[in-house]
Amino acid sequence: MIDLYPQKQTDSLYGSKHSKQMKRKITLLIGACIFTVIALATIQGYFIYNTYKLYEKEINTSIKKQIARLEDTEEWEKINDTWSIHSKKYAKEYAKGKITKSSFTKYLTIKKDSLSGAMKTYMKKMGQPEDYDIDYSVYLNSITVIKGGKKNTLFDGKILILANDTLKKNKILSSMGRWETKDSNDELILVIKSNRYYSFDELQQIIISKMAGLLLFSVALMAFVVFLYYMSLKNLISQKRIADIKTDFVNNITHEFQTPLATMDIAIKTLQRKDKQMSPEHYSNTLAMIARQNERLQKLFRQVTEASVAPIANKDSIQVTSEEIKNMIDDFKLFKPDITIEFTSQKEAFTISMDRFHLNTILINLLDNAVKYGATRIVTDLKITAGNFILSVEDNGKGIPVQEQSSIFDKFYRVDKGNIHNNKGLGLGLFYIKQLVQTYGGTISVKSEEHTGSLFTITIPI
Ligand code: ADP
Repeated sequence: MIDLYPQKQTDSLYGSKHSKQMKRKITLLIGACIFTVIALATIQGYFIYNTYKLYEKEINTSIKKQIARLEDTEEWEKINDTWSIHSKKYAKEYAKGKITKSSFTKYLTIKKDSLSGAMKTYMKKMGQPEDYDIDYSVYLNSITVIKGGKKNTLFDGKILILANDTLKKNKILSSMGRWETKDSNDELILVIKSNRYYSFDELQQIIISKMAGLLLFSVALMAFVVFLYYMSLKNLISQKRIADIKTDFVNNITHEFQTPLATMDIAIKTLQRKDKQMSPEHYSNTLAMIARQNERLQKLFRQVTEASVAPIANKDSIQVTSEEIKNMIDDFKLFKPDITIEFTSQKEAFTISMDRFHLNTILINLLDNAVKYGATRIVTDLKITAGNFILSVEDNGKGIPVQEQSSIFDKFYRVDKGNIHNNKGLGLGLFYIKQLVQTYGGTISVKSEEHTGSLFTITIPI
């Protein structure tokens, strides 16, 4: 047997190996891009977090200064003394057994409201424009009595003594206090411990508003980097796709031209063999074979040249009768007797502005494809709707996968790629049909389901 396609196989193998390498490179590149974006985002996040913490520290320092200013007046001392004197008084009475424990704890907070009110007024009065709107609170933590060297804890816990407002969520410890007082006759030593807190809920909002510019810039920068990567990768993938399609085209064209050339070579050699007498039948069969292969070569050549030159529309009005279309289909049927081709037409005659030859090319190319891709039954329909001439060709062939449907009109695009060739072709048929349809201001669309069939619809304004 003669090996008709040695070159094609090497090309295909080279093509698929090269394509796999490219694929691996692209996958690696995508991985590297994702990694860089994550690394950049992490670094940015780290810097943003640090800036946040810095602002937080700065605001807290200012608040502490604000509190120090508040606590450094006689008026404040007075408010503060009120509760400590008051607490000491009841602590002594309790220590001496003059009041019960429950009344002692009750008496500790008896002045809470009036002190809180005083504190509120005081803070308002002391407020300065640059001050933060803070809440301030004092808690009593413990009262211990030392009598004759013996320690006795009268109170241990956390009791609110005063606060300028209803307390906000985030309480921060501002300072801890410890007072020691002796009884007049040195009989008792009282140790009072208290904690002061401030809270400032708007901290987060203030920091975020301070950082708004930085945050926006970071997000915009990240978005720009992602967009740049996306565009570059998209470009690369489309370059790869074009390269693959070109490799496929070279493989296909080599394959397509090699078959008729090899067949003609054999036929010519047969005719050149003068030693053996040829029967007239053998002679005419060989000539017919050469003619057929020659015609095939011409058809291929026509396809390539047609696709490389944009068709020119001839918008002269023509009358197309349904009879005429039927004849075109019947001519086609002569070569495909096993295929059922139905033809329906809305009208007997249509007037459209189109070259008759172009209409014929579109129809025959679509029928040719339907047969090539496995149809046994084809339905062709003509109609006029909303000022458009609509030609549809529906077949029950192998159909086109959804993900391929948008690409089949591209130049050189074939669904069977690489060295999987169940059907011959250059991927130029639908591209040329689309070009033709577009020169008449029309559109072509496909609806298809794999293993069920395809429907091609051509719409041309009349
Ligand atoms: P070619 O037939 O030379 O490959 P075309 O441009 O005519 O090129 O078609 C592009 C691709 O669309 C084909 O490779 C084929 O997979 C798919 N295709 C076209 N028509 C049909 C059809 N009627 N049924 C199934 N697939 C089709």
